[in-house]
Amino acid sequence: MSGGACSKCGTVSQQGARFCPQCGTSMVAPQCTKCSAALTMDARFCGACGQPRT
Ligand SMILES: [Zn+2]
Ligand SMILES: [Zn+2]
Repeated sequence: MSGGACSKCGTVSQQGARFCPQCGTSMVAPQCTKCSAALTMDARFCGACGQPRT
């Protein structure tokens, strides 16, 4: 996962940044803690295994 533009404010962060330096929005897609499936930003449960998001 390399640097990218913030989905909220468009600020381009440094490579490896996990949060936007301007607005604090998470820059990385959340993952299930159990099966590592990619979750959507507003997911409350894993769509693959049902693990509640922590
Ligand atoms: Zn931002
Ligand atoms: Zn899962």
